[in-house]
Amino acid sequence: MSKQAPVPPWRRDFPLLSVRVHGQPLAYLDNAATTQKPWQVIDALSRYYKTGNANVHRGSHALSNQATEAFEKARRQVAGWLGIAEPETLIWTRGATEAINLVAQSWGPMNLSSGDRILLMQSAHHANIVPWQLLADRTGAELEVVRLLPDGNLDLEHFRQCLTRQPKLVTLTHISNALGTCYPVAKLARESREAGATVLIDGAQALPHQDVNLEELACDFYVFSGHKVFGPTGIGALWGRRELLEAMPPWQAGGEMIERVSFSGTTFADLPFKFEAGTPNISGVIGLGTAIEYVQKSDRQAQAAHEQSLLTHALACCETVPGFSPLPAGSERTSLFSFLLDGHHPQDVAHWLDRQGIAVRAGHHCAMPLMESLGIQGTLRASFAFYNTHEEAERLARALDELVHQDR
Ligand code: PLP
Repeated sequence: MSKQAPVPPWRRDFPLLSVRVHGQPLAYLDNAATTQKPWQVIDALSRYYKTGNANVHRGSHALSNQATEAFEKARRQVAGWLGIAEPETLIWTRGATEAINLVAQSWGPMNLSSGDRILLMQSAHHANIVPWQLLADRTGAELEVVRLLPDGNLDLEHFRQCLTRQPKLVTLTHISNALGTCYPVAKLARESREAGATVLIDGAQALPHQDVNLEELACDFYVFSGHKVFGPTGIGALWGRRELLEAMPPWQAGGEMIERVSFSGTTFADLPFKFEAGTPNISGVIGLGTAIEYVQKSDRQAQAAHEQSLLTHALACCETVPGFSPLPAGSERTSLFSFLLDGHHPQDVAHWLDRQGIAVRAGHHCAMPLMESLGIQGTLRASFAFYNTHEEAERLARALDELVHQDR
C-alpha cells in the first residue's frame, strides 16, 4: 500500500476534514450524500450575514441593491461555468429534487396526456422517479424503464427499442449515485431528441466531478444540487431551454414572480423570476456562487485525475479483503463504489467503520427499484472527492479486513 502518496493540496481548504470522530481522524467517504465546504464558502456566508444581509429585488436602499447584485452575480457565475449563454434560463431551486418537481408540475401537465410515455432509467434516484409517478397519476401517462445490463452499463438496445415507442419525455441520470456509473448522456440525449422526446438530465452527481457545457449537451432540462458541489444546502438549480421555460406556467405563486397583481387577474414576471416565488435563499445562492468560483479556479483536470487514482487504489486495496464484492458499474465508473461484504449486513459494517472514524453510507441510496432488480436490500457506498487521500482509502480497506478477521 502506498502510504507515501501525497495529501492533495486542496484538502487544506476544507476545515471540517480535520475534525475527529470517536477519537479518530475523520475519513469522510460519504461525498455522494453531501460534500464538505471550503473556507471561501464558509467565509462568504459569514460575510453576507455580517455585512450584506438584506432582501433582494425590492431595493430602495444600498444594502438591498448590494444583496441583489451579489445574488445575480452568483447566477451569472454559475451560468458561465455551465456554458449557459442566457443566465435568466437558470432558475434557483432548493436542489435537484425541487428542480425535477418544478418540471414535473409545470411542464408535465401541459405536455403529457393519457397514454403518453415517460422513459426512466432503472438506476434513477427516487427524486427522478417519484415526481414522474405523480405526474403519470395526474395525466394518465405511462412510465417505461430502461434496463441495465449485468455489467452495469445501460442496455442500449433496450433504450433504442423504448425510443421507437416515442416517449414524450426521457429522464436520464448523468452519474448514478448508487453505482457510480457515468452514462453517455450526450449520446442518449441526442438520440432521444431525434426520436422527438424532451430530455431532462439529473446532474446531481456529475458536477462535483466534471465540468459540463449545457449548450453542447443538447438536453432540454438539467438539474443539480449546490450542496453536492461544495456549496450550501437548500440551494440548487434548474436549467431549461428558453422556449420551454417561457411556455411553462408558474408552479408556485406569491411575491417576486409577478409583474402586476389585481383582483381581476395577475401577469407574471419574465424569466427567471416567474419560477422563483417568495424570498429566495439569498445566502445559499451567494454561497453557491462562491463554491463555483472556487471550482472554476481549481485545477479540475488534476482533481479528476486524483479522484480516479483514489478510486482505483481504494478498489485495489478493498479487493484484498475476503468477501468484498463491488457492484458492477459499467465501462465508466466515477468517484464511488457500492459494495457488499459477505456475511455482514451493510448497516453493521457502516457502524463498525464509523467507530474507526470512517464515514460511508449504507442502505438503498434512494434507488430502491435498482436494489430490487439486483435482488438486494442495500449496499455500502464509499464515495470520494478530490480532497480525500490514498491513506483514507487504505484505512477503509484495513478496517474492513479487521472486521472480517475479527469474526472468523
Ligand atoms: N439525483 C441524484 C443522482 C442524487 O444523488 C441526489 C441526492 O443524493 C438527488 C438527485 C437529490 O438531491 P437533493 O436531495 O439534493 O435534492
